[in-house]
Amino acid sequence: MKGDKRSIARTISIIENNEEEAQKLMALLYPKTGKAYTIGITGPPGAGKSTLIEKLVKELRNRGKTVGVVAVDPTSPFTGGAFLGDRVRMQDLSVDQGVYIRSMATRNYPGGLARATKDVSRVLDASGKDVVIVETVGAGQSEVEVVKVANTVIVVLAPGLGDDIQAIKAGQMEIGDIFVVNKADRENANKAVNYIEAMLELATEKTGWRPPVLKTSAFTGEGVAQLLEYIDQHKAYLKTGVLDERRKESVENELIEALKEKITESILNDFRSRGEWEKLTQKILARQTDPYTAADELLAKPLKSKTKRKREQ
Ligand code: GDP
Repeated sequence: MKGDKRSIARTISIIENNEEEAQKLMALLYPKTGKAYTIGITGPPGAGKSTLIEKLVKELRNRGKTVGVVAVDPTSPFTGGAFLGDRVRMQDLSVDQGVYIRSMATRNYPGGLARATKDVSRVLDASGKDVVIVETVGAGQSEVEVVKVANTVIVVLAPGLGDDIQAIKAGQMEIGDIFVVNKADRENANKAVNYIEAMLELATEKTGWRPPVLKTSAFTGEGVAQLLEYIDQHKAYLKTGVLDERRKESVENELIEALKEKITESILNDFRSRGEWEKLTQKILARQTDPYTAADELLAKPLKSKTKRKREQ
């Protein structure tokens, strides 16, 4: 909680590997979380997310803020996806005591990537970081899940990508609180801005927040201060009550996920410890029953309590 980098790293490893102490550790940390402002950054590979994050982090540091970055993007320089030049730049940030960068390995996490990412950003939150940035490549549903938990979601696109309908398919129009057309130093940036504006007109529900679309150049730093300004505006908007609503919804979703996981685990253990499991499996294999009827059959019988099961073992 003092922000010691080695302790943060060890805590994250324990959680990522779902070691036995993981749940206890999270329980201890949980009361210390909820202080950091979380920013989700998503967009197609190559749009310039990582370069932009580097600029954002520097600007936030200039403003005296400490920052944590969790990169879930397999193509990101943070995760080792880019050429050496990028990595060297990142190293400059990682020697700063006020910055902690963590990349999530692209492997299967017990409990899923979205959960692992959430837990890791909570560790950074508990470590006292003022801002936690979560970067993900905007492709599938699981990436969308990852950034949805952020307070402010930024969708980063680049000129030329406006012609690509993929960006919209991925459901990014719905999740973006701020849209960025990066590489404004290139041609066609305005065309991309107009395109996004038009899509927003069609796609977004009318709420109190109209997502702004802005141009940035992660190379020159153009637009980066404006982006932070929009983030502050969005934060102020959330404070009008929307944040509490979002938080409640997200806590409820998390509780449901936790229940599902625990119920499934305990029921399965119970069923497996009984003789019927094997019998029913064989019956399904022999086509004498089907999985759904078998599930009903199992559920019709009373479950043993956890303690009783333990005693029998
Ligand atoms: P990511 O995959 O979205 O994280 O994109 P990167 O940050 O790795 O950037 C992809 C490429 O675009 C790299 O070669 C960057 O140097 C380059 N790039 C990033 N930002 C800009 C920019 O503002 N202008 C130009 N021209 N190139 C940029």
